[in-house]
Amino acid sequence: MKPLGDAQRSVLSAMTALPSEPVDLEGALGLVLAQPVVAPHDVPPFANSGMDGFAVRASDVAVVPATLRVVDDVRAGSVPSHPVAGGEAIRIMTGAPIPEGADAIVMVENTEADDGNVRILAPAHQGDHIRPAGGDIPAGVTVFEAGTRITPYHVGVLASIGVVHPVVGRRPTVAILSTGDEVMPPETASLRPGAIRDANRPLLAGTLRELGASVVDLGIVPDDARLLRSVLGEAATSADAILTTGGVSMGEHDLVRRVLADLGEIDFWRVAMQPAKPFAFGFLATTPLFGLPGNPVSVSVSFEQFVRPALLRRMGARRLFRPRSAATLAVGLSTNPEKTVFVRVVARPQDGGWIVTPIRHQASNVLSGMAAADALAVIPAGTGDVDAGSTVEVEWFRSPETRTMEEALDG
Ligand code: AMP
Ligand code: MG
Repeated sequence: MKPLGDAQRSVLSAMTALPSEPVDLEGALGLVLAQPVVAPHDVPPFANSGMDGFAVRASDVAVVPATLRVVDDVRAGSVPSHPVAGGEAIRIMTGAPIPEGADAIVMVENTEADDGNVRILAPAHQGDHIRPAGGDIPAGVTVFEAGTRITPYHVGVLASIGVVHPVVGRRPTVAILSTGDEVMPPETASLRPGAIRDANRPLLAGTLRELGASVVDLGIVPDDARLLRSVLGEAATSADAILTTGGVSMGEHDLVRRVLADLGEIDFWRVAMQPAKPFAFGFLATTPLFGLPGNPVSVSVSFEQFVRPALLRRMGARRLFRPRSAATLAVGLSTNPEKTVFVRVVARPQDGGWIVTPIRHQASNVLSGMAAADALAVIPAGTGDVDAGSTVEVEWFRSPETRTMEEALDG
């Protein structure tokens, strides 16, 4: 059996970056910057007020109360038409440019209007409530490095500096197909004896879309070598990656193995992991192909451990793997010491950390467990038994909403 880390290294080191291209900001979400982004101008672009109030000279209001003559009114979007001279103030709104001569803002709550004048009730210090030009992002700095994955917050920052066509790694097109004579479309009205509904394609389509890939659905291919060969051959000419499920284990009808071996440069591994031991990886022409196992939990875990990081690398990302953290195991576990075991766990906060409980059914066909779980406890090869109360490492394979309104607000 191939150690998991070795298998991951083989896969990742074979991943080349997809070509880069400029995209619209709206289309950039989830993609990865192919070039560093340098700020073309300061953010904020000019010094401005952080408060509604009065622009003053701090030296005029060192001793309070002080009465100043109001000489102008400047709103966000307009520019001051006067400087602030000694003994003067300018009424100013949040976001409006700081008038020349002023070096502090007194917030309106600390003032009283007084017939064309303003009484300042609290002393101000130089720089109070002034947001300097470039205080967030100075012109010329590298705002984001190449390899950064674009979140909505990155989109916001890019917008703020006018970078509206960021250059990103091309959105990968990923072809998916399920194999198996028993596998039927999910919408099948009534299943014939021996048949099951296809869980893998919808599952993979979802994980891929979450990742930012566009999905080409090649449907279900029965265990028929000729059909499989033609579908895969076609996919290899257009997709940036191909994912198949099923047909890679040792069974007589596990055709994917044989067809792949004929068609391309494919390795079959028994990876020392559980679930998802059988795994095929290689290239059909230049297109990477991931032959995932058939059982849906195995599909999920091998997607997480191989496909997701590999696609992120093709997209140009520097960070490829999900976050991990320490957690306390609620109950004891017995795992196969020859494998890295991924245990589906439900996580609850406790004492500033996490306590994790394995879901009951850990078999690789029990997909409901994947839906119920919050994380995968990663029990490294060589471990075997783990006692209740032990600290284990968990990998967060998703970050859903976890707290109800009552839990969030009434705690
Ligand atoms: P295989 O590797 O093809 O022998 O499949 C292993 C197990 O996964 C078998 O029990 C299959 O019926 C099941 N399986 C294969 N493909 C799917 C699928 N698309 N959805 C749900 N279960 C599947
Ligand atoms: Mg099969």
